[in-house]
This record gives sequence, structure tokens and C-alpha cells, in this order.
Amino acid sequence: MLNCPNCHSKDIGKIANNQYYCWSCFIEFAVEGDRYITFQVEEDGSLSSLDDLFTEDELRIQQSF
Ligand SMILES: [Zn+2]
Repeated sequence: MLNCPNCHSKDIGKIANNQYYCWSCFIEFAVEGDRYITFQVEEDGSLSSLDDLFTEDELRIQQSF
């Protein structure tokens, strides 16, 4: 189960294959290998990267088995 890399909510919607939306903080993110790629949806519908706002640690997917 994925958590939002920004707010850690589990309230995640799937948009497309490997692309997700957080209902809590309204960012989109994708999973590439073992890390997240984060996006913000602009008013014109385009996506801009938010990865600069996070550290490598925060973008690493925490596996909790
Ligand atoms: Zn979130």
C-alpha cells in the first residue's frame, strides 16, 4: 500500500498505470523503481515537478513488511 510522499496519507487514488493522486494534499505522484516522482497540477492542467521540495530520503519508498 502506497503512502503519499508529501503528507503520508493513505487516501490515494489511482489515475493511470503507475500514476497516483493524493486526496489529502492534491498532488500527483508516480512510482519509478524504488522512489516516488512527485507532481503538482497547474491551473492549465500541466504537471510540474515537485521533487525539488523533497529529500532523497523522503522520495524513497518505504517498504513496510
Ligand atoms: Zn498527500
